[in-house]
Amino acid sequence: MAQAERTSPEPTPGEGGRNYSPIRERYLTETAGSGTLHERAKQLLPGGTSRQAGFWMPYPLTYERAEGPFLYDVDGRQYFDLIYNYTAMVHGHGYPPIVEAAQRQAGIGTGWAGGNRLQLDLAEQMVDRIASVEQVRFTNSGTEANALAFTIARKVTGRSKLLMARFGYHGSLMEFECGSFGHEGPITRLAAYNDLADFERVLAEDDDIAMVILEPVLGSGGVVAADAAFLKGVGAAARKAGALFVIDEVMTLRFDYHGAQGALDITTDLTTFGKLIGGGFPVGAVGGQRDMLKIFDPDDLKLFHTGTFNANPVTMAAGGVSLAELTSERIDDMARRAEDLKTGLRAAAATAGLPLAINHHASLLNLYFSDTPPESSVVREDAELIGRFHLAAMNHGLFVAPRGLIAMSTVLTDAHIGEISERAAAAMADVAAETG
Ligand code: PMP
Repeated sequence: MAQAERTSPEPTPGEGGRNYSPIRERYLTETAGSGTLHERAKQLLPGGTSRQAGFWMPYPLTYERAEGPFLYDVDGRQYFDLIYNYTAMVHGHGYPPIVEAAQRQAGIGTGWAGGNRLQLDLAEQMVDRIASVEQVRFTNSGTEANALAFTIARKVTGRSKLLMARFGYHGSLMEFECGSFGHEGPITRLAAYNDLADFERVLAEDDDIAMVILEPVLGSGGVVAADAAFLKGVGAAARKAGALFVIDEVMTLRFDYHGAQGALDITTDLTTFGKLIGGGFPVGAVGGQRDMLKIFDPDDLKLFHTGTFNANPVTMAAGGVSLAELTSERIDDMARRAEDLKTGLRAAAATAGLPLAINHHASLLNLYFSDTPPESSVVREDAELIGRFHLAAMNHGLFVAPRGLIAMSTVLTDAHIGEISERAAAAMADVAAETG
């Protein structure tokens, strides 16, 4: 068996093999404009990028525009977007009601240090949907929301550490990202996902844990679902140990009208949000009970928290529409189409003679070119095959995440799913041809 290879949680795959690769050659030829721009980017940006999750070998595509389910690169090639900015663009690109709301707001004011009505509309929707959320504090990213949750937890408990799942993802703050790669840090403790006893063990041996934070489904870690008993058990153990129980819904809010926690009937001390609640603009938020969040109350301020762009009106306008338009019916439709795509991908792999395991939860899939899925997409044996498929898929006009994540959006139709399955079959045939 091949040695398991470490990849990043929002990763960089291999170059698709060191030897001659027709897949790679085709990519270099057909995306030459992106190649040239990457040379310039390398001079101006470290590594040629502002974002590791937007980078892959030999160079990332530079996109110029996007519409509905499609992205267009600087060479004028069209791709089905199957990542949607890592799930944030749940209604696809340029969704007319969101564009209209953002444009209207951009014309009458994009920011001021004072109140705005639009944040009330978005917060009200979040409070209505999420049972454990009575109030909301907005930030500018999911990372920032989780950092704020940790700050609140430290303030409330007087303790200093966090406990998260090994290969969980809560953002690229040092305290979180070490856990995403499977390492503990000075204030970061880890336990195995879906292993209640392991969480109880850490809570029993360490009395300095301020918060236990979990994704209801590991997103970055490879679409690994938790069962309700595990989440409830960790919640109970955290509270018993005097730590706050925080659920990160940055990615999983798309799974259920009431959030993943609602579907599983989980109650939380704090919930963090991001991605789709910004309608495509930068956003994050922490939600919780009034009692907990009173530390921000200016009458009796315990925690000073501010931010130039917090709840900026354009994000709030776009996010309000994005959330309102994410109905239960659309959530169900996305899950059904993910199921259909899974069937199509399985058939394609069987025809190509490639092993394929698929983790699937609602509107998200994660592909592994192996017989069984690994514990996490971060440590996997199929790094070379997934790297080749990633490039081959782009050659056939499909943009999947380098680590194999595929997200549905509300603008994908049944006809699109059929076409995506055909393109994926062509990409898998290319992979089989150069590895077989
Ligand atoms: N939490 C989860 C579960 C995420 O998936 C992400 C982003 N992939 C984050 C937090 C961080 O959000 P942001 O990229 O907006 O900082």
